[in-house]
Amino acid sequence: MRQISGIHHITAIAGDPRQNLDFYSGLLGLRLVKRTVNFDDPATYHFYFGDREANPGSLLTFFLWHGAQRGRHGAGQATAVSFSIPEDAMGYWRERLNAANVAIDGPQKRFGEETISFHDHDGLRLELVANPDARPGWLEGPVPGEHAIRGIHGVTLSVEALGKTASVLAVALGFRPTKEGGNRVRYEAGSGGAGTVVDVEWAPGLTQGEVAVGTVHHVAWRTPNEAEQREWRRDIAARGLRVTPIIDRKYFRSIYFREPGGVLFEIATDGPGFAVDEPAEELGTRLVLPPWLEPRRRDLETRLPPLDEPQFVRQA
Ligand code: ZN
Repeated sequence: MRQISGIHHITAIAGDPRQNLDFYSGLLGLRLVKRTVNFDDPATYHFYFGDREANPGSLLTFFLWHGAQRGRHGAGQATAVSFSIPEDAMGYWRERLNAANVAIDGPQKRFGEETISFHDHDGLRLELVANPDARPGWLEGPVPGEHAIRGIHGVTLSVEALGKTASVLAVALGFRPTKEGGNRVRYEAGSGGAGTVVDVEWAPGLTQGEVAVGTVHHVAWRTPNEAEQREWRRDIAARGLRVTPIIDRKYFRSIYFREPGGVLFEIATDGPGFAVDEPAEELGTRLVLPPWLEPRRRDLETRLPPLDEPQFVRQA
């Protein structure tokens, strides 16, 4: 049976592009794999961070809304993004974040895995989860390879009631509930484990979130190809959910729909990938534009905030 194989990417909103680049690339050690503009709002940046090859499941992306207001965390949103780190790397990360004056909560055990949480400059909640994860991460960044982030571990969705969101995850998308504790249920897709984890936290009466700086905009699930994406689109529409046409995002093809709890979901194809418009070894080193925006390059470059290379925080 066709089922979602895991998380493709998570897209959040940040304020200052410079701070965002320094935090995610310089401090967390993710590779900046694409420096482009928001195709729907091309006078603003869209950054993609990931592993060496920009594999689906490693990708956290940001719309940069420089100067915009902060949003509010709440119902109808993904309220935390978790990264996967090696099982013995927690001590390294606590020291590294402490040295950068990032306040840490934890460690605590969640479903048997040691977890810490903290926030980026814009208030986005992040977590590091120590667990076995064979994915490569990015070994040539500022974090020594043995400690480097391996990819996305999972995402937490906050909703007022579990039922309808659970039904879309389990019945429509093929996630299976694997763990439960308090008001949190864990779902996993495909082979399970890091990169496939969705925790749903519910709280009746929880205030609705507002999507702006410091919040997650949407969560994208993986599908291998466009043929399956067309089938997903047909199935989702048949369930009475409003789903967009297939949209060309250049590095993947996307459809979007809102689950009944209010969280914006996307289903994105694994291909064609991030090496379609620059060599794999040069990913993220220059501003790339889709062909339809290339004629506006000079104008866009003068309107976008200037950027130099991320400041790497080096530490043994
Ligand atoms: Zn997306």
